[in-house]
Amino acid sequence: ALEMPAFIATKVSQYSCQRKTTLNNYNKKFTDAFEVMAENYEFKENEIFCLEFLRAASLLKSLPFSVTRMKDIQGLPCVGDQVRDIIEEIIEEGESSRVNEVLNDERYKAFKQFTSVFGVGVKTSEKWYRMGLRTVEEVKADKTLKLSKMQKAGLLYYEDLVSCVSKAEADAVSLIVKNTVCTFLPDALVTITGGFRRGKNIGHDIDFLITNPGPREDDELLHKVIDLWKKQGLLLYCDIIESTFVKEQLPSRKVDAMDHFQKCFAILKLYQPRVDNSTCNTSEQLEMAEVKDWKAIRVDLVITPFEQYPYALLGWTGSRQFGRDLRRYAAHERKMILDNHGLYDRRKLINHFEYIVQ
Ligand code: ATP
Ligand code: MN
Ligand code: MN
Repeated sequence: ALEMPAFIATKVSQYSCQRKTTLNNYNKKFTDAFEVMAENYEFKENEIFCLEFLRAASLLKSLPFSVTRMKDIQGLPCVGDQVRDIIEEIIEEGESSRVNEVLNDERYKAFKQFTSVFGVGVKTSEKWYRMGLRTVEEVKADKTLKLSKMQKAGLLYYEDLVSCVSKAEADAVSLIVKNTVCTFLPDALVTITGGFRRGKNIGHDIDFLITNPGPREDDELLHKVIDLWKKQGLLLYCDIIESTFVKEQLPSRKVDAMDHFQKCFAILKLYQPRVDNSTCNTSEQLEMAEVKDWKAIRVDLVITPFEQYPYALLGWTGSRQFGRDLRRYAAHERKMILDNHGLYDRRKLINHFEYIVQ
C-alpha cells in the first residue's frame, strides 16, 4: 500500500472512470458492508440510497491503503452521512450493527435467495414474499406458482448456477463459443467481456461480444450458433432478443438503459470429465452411479456491428458502476451522451433530432 503522504484525498475524483482501481481491495470489510446496504435498498427500490452505497463501495475499492481511522476518509467524495456512520461503526466495533440488522432481516434474506434465481428480480421476489414464501426450496415445492420459461430454467439448474463460474470454466466455454462461431464466420471476433475481462477469476456468468470485421453482417449467425448447440445437446436454455437498433433513434439518456444489440441469454451444458479415478472412471460407472458429468453455465452472447464494437466492448466490460460513471462523466463533464452504440455530441445531436427527455 502507498504511504499516506503520497495520497491526496481532495484529488480523488467522484467518477470511478477517473480513478485507477486494481483488483486489490484493501477495504473489503467496508465495501462488503456497503454492498449489503446497497442490495437491501435495491430490494426496497430506493435507487438513491442504493447508488449512494454502490458509489462509496467503488470509491473505497480504489484506495491504495486500508482505512483505519476516520481521518483516512477526510476530504473524499462519495462519502455521505450514512456511509460515514457505517465506516465509524466498523472502525470502532469491527462490524456494523446496521449491516447485521439487514443480514438478519427476514425480507432481505428471502429477497437475497429469490433474486439469486436466474429470471427473478425484485418484482417477482416481492410477489413471492407477499405470498408467504421465504426460501428457494419453498418456491421449488410450490406447484401452483406461475413461472416464466426463464424462471423454470433458473430453478431447474439452481445449484449449478449459484455456484460461481471459475476462470477455467470460462476458458473452456470460451473455446466452445469461438469454435462454433468460427464454423460459420471464420473471421469473426469473439471477445470475453464482463468480469472476466476485468481480470476477475470468478463470475456469475460468462459474457461474450461477437462481431465480424468488415462491412458484412450476418443476422443469422446467432441463430446458427444456437441451432448447432441444440443439435449437439449443449443448450439447456436460451432466450434470443432481436436487435432493436434504429440508426435515426436517439441515444438513451438513462444511465442504466439496456442496449439494442441482438443478444442471447443462455444456459450451456459444460461437460466436465471427472479426473477423480478413485470411484468411477468409465462412462458406464458414471452412469450407474448417476454422477452428473456436466455443469450448467450462464452465458450471455451479444452480436454487434463492427463499427459499434468499441462502444459495446466498453459497456459490456463493466463494471456496472464504471459504466454508470462513464456515462455520467460524458453527460455532465463533456456534454456528450455515451451508450453501448456510440458517443454523441449533444449540441450536434440537438440540431439533427428532436431531443426527447426521458
Ligand atoms: P458477474 O461476474 O456477476 O457476471 P459482470 O460484471 O460480468 O459480473 P454482468 O451482469 O454479466 O456483470 O454484466 C457485464 C456488463 O454488461 C455490465 O457492465 C453491465 O452493465 C452490462 N450489461 C449486462 N446486461 C446488459 C444488458 N442487458 N444490456 C446492456 N448491458 C448489459
Ligand atoms: Mn458477467
Ligand atoms: Mn452477463
